[in-house]
Amino acid sequence: MTIDPVKLDKLAQVAIKVGLQLAEGQDLVMTAPMSAAPLVRRITEHAYQAGAGLVTTIYSDEEATLARYKHANSASFDKAAGWLYSGMAEAFRNNAARLAISGDNPMMLAGQDPDKVTRAMRANSAAYKPALQLITGFDINWNIVSYPTTAWAKLVFPNDSEEDAVTKLADAIFKASRVDQEDPIAAWAEHNANLKKRWTWLNDKSFASLHYTGPGTDLTVGLADGHRWKGGASEAKNGITCNPNIPTEEVFTTPHKLRVDGYVAGTKPLSHNGALIEEMQARFEGGKLVEFKAAKNGDLFNTVLDTDEGGRRLGEVALVPHSSPISASGILFFNTLYDENASCHIAQGQCYSDCFVGGKGLSQEQISAQGGNTSNIHIDWMIGSDKINIDGVHADGTTEPVMRGGEWAN
Ligand code: ZN
Ligand code: ZN
Repeated sequence: MTIDPVKLDKLAQVAIKVGLQLAEGQDLVMTAPMSAAPLVRRITEHAYQAGAGLVTTIYSDEEATLARYKHANSASFDKAAGWLYSGMAEAFRNNAARLAISGDNPMMLAGQDPDKVTRAMRANSAAYKPALQLITGFDINWNIVSYPTTAWAKLVFPNDSEEDAVTKLADAIFKASRVDQEDPIAAWAEHNANLKKRWTWLNDKSFASLHYTGPGTDLTVGLADGHRWKGGASEAKNGITCNPNIPTEEVFTTPHKLRVDGYVAGTKPLSHNGALIEEMQARFEGGKLVEFKAAKNGDLFNTVLDTDEGGRRLGEVALVPHSSPISASGILFFNTLYDENASCHIAQGQCYSDCFVGGKGLSQEQISAQGGNTSNIHIDWMIGSDKINIDGVHADGTTEPVMRGGEWAN
């Protein structure tokens, strides 16, 4: 056995009790790669023990996905299972909780026709949007956890045997998810309290913008009017407090879609749909990413940015200290859930409507008027390191340090 069954069971318990705080009688819609079935089964047990109404799992299969790329006709790549996402949206409107298990081979689509990959992704994002908006808008409690699949583990630890790679990735996941601790639920309560201290400070300061300086970086990120910082546990509109990302180390808010200026260098490679985009460099003007270059796969990322009107504008700005446990592990996970929590980051595309004061009651029009961006994409990319300084800029132009050398300044 390469995956510790006790820790796997604790991870399932954390997903239900901390991640979702699944309520008595609540239904659960779960998605997972087929190879994550051992975790799906543990989670399903804990869900029913917690009083779940009905647990429904939708599995994906890498080989079936690849069969489409190999054999499907061209028209297939403009299709998406809209009927499935409509059903998911209906479930969420009826208060079903949402759990995603990440663990797909990040390089699954490497080597496939980029045009087909982009078209399939676009069709899928558009079809998924109604369901995604209920998730990002926190209508319901939701959570993502991950499972160490063999393909993913071999990518992260290419020099190890399959068995050793899976063991190492499993241990890294368990540690980052705090299930290596005696009482993971208590550990999460403490972690949430620490994150709360940080976002409370940022909310009290109510900065107009953040100014980043570092190698290849001199960037001002204006914050949306009435923005609100969040991190860790979050209360959904259905009244349930969930921990959407397991693990999480970030505090984050909504930038102003028209007030981002300057240039910024990526500090870690970005794994996107089977491609690794390396040494990213971007220039922003009036909120728009007007110039993008990368040492590798820059063209591909430019295409992704042109997905729609909002693709070149920011939807998220997040602060993570360089000393965070995931950063300290030194592992490149090729998985945003992990890599974004190793570093300060920004995201192209859709904003979180809940990152506004009174966000739960704001209409899409109000959010937009306050500077919130809309897009079918949400792609985080890493701009933090031990060489980055960040100042908070007040509306009157005065500044105070937020981070120095990648660590909290106070
Ligand atoms: Zn983030
Ligand atoms: Zn994000």
